[in-house]
Amino acid sequence: MIIFKKKNELKVYLQSLKAQKKTIGLVPTMGALHKGHLSLISQAKKINDIIVVSIFVNPTQFNNTEDLTKYPKTIENDTKLLESVSCDVLFYPSVEEIYNTNVVADSFDFDGLEHQMEGKFRDGHFNGVGTIVKTLFDIVTPHRAYFGQKDFQQLQIIKKMVKKHRINIKIKGCAIFREADGLAMSSRNIRLTKQQREAAPFIYKTLKEVRKKFGLENADEVTQWVEDQFKKQPLFKLEYFTIADEKTLETVKNKESGKKYRAFIAIFAGEIRLIDNIRLHNL
Ligand code: AMP
Repeated sequence: MIIFKKKNELKVYLQSLKAQKKTIGLVPTMGALHKGHLSLISQAKKINDIIVVSIFVNPTQFNNTEDLTKYPKTIENDTKLLESVSCDVLFYPSVEEIYNTNVVADSFDFDGLEHQMEGKFRDGHFNGVGTIVKTLFDIVTPHRAYFGQKDFQQLQIIKKMVKKHRINIKIKGCAIFREADGLAMSSRNIRLTKQQREAAPFIYKTLKEVRKKFGLENADEVTQWVEDQFKKQPLFKLEYFTIADEKTLETVKNKESGKKYRAFIAIFAGEIRLIDNIRLHNL
């Protein structure tokens, strides 16, 4: 695996591969890699000649300074993991390399997708995401880019960005990779205390129950039920739970046949914020 810290060197290298008609798959990450990230890489390896993984903890997408400073950084282990799955290229730039001295996000219009859920609770988050993903796309110009459904809203927003800006990159959404007990893998999981970690499967268990209930009850009733469950759970504080249309990400009022719905959740375990979601259609 070749490691690049400078965007121009990476560009030159990739240009020579593109000249040889090699296809390139990009997997953007913030590091502290786990099997969820590796599942994106293995998907990318199936149809691309060259895999580029980026590791960059993007400051402009954090609305909470402590979350940013405490974001796990495990670059040595990440490098070993990437070597073990035969990743071709790691792009590991500094903040200056990406932003120069102007560490601010550009403004994006994602047709309202950015105002739902994560956008409501993490001010400016999707401008930060749009800025870094657009920058990485400009540097790498991959044929395909891989994103997890774990961050489903982000995935829909990137698809929107590519469409609106007429960017010629195929966006591939990948299934959520979970621990054996159901907890969605996340770089933040290693910050959980033993007690929080033991209790954390409660999140996915609740979502699975939601999937059952949504067939029988309306969205408001199911939402109320989830809120009640979390009131009884002292280790976790519910930030939001919502059942939304997959396309518009707007909270469902009345179920309509033919629409695709998904339940989304964000919780705090102490200071640590975890998100998850589950598909409610095609059961
Ligand atoms: P992150 O490093 O958290 O920014 O994640 C990088 C990419 O990996 C994003 O596209 C995430 O959606 C994806 N990802 C993170 N966790 C998982 C998971 N448990 N399963 C599938 N994809 C994931």
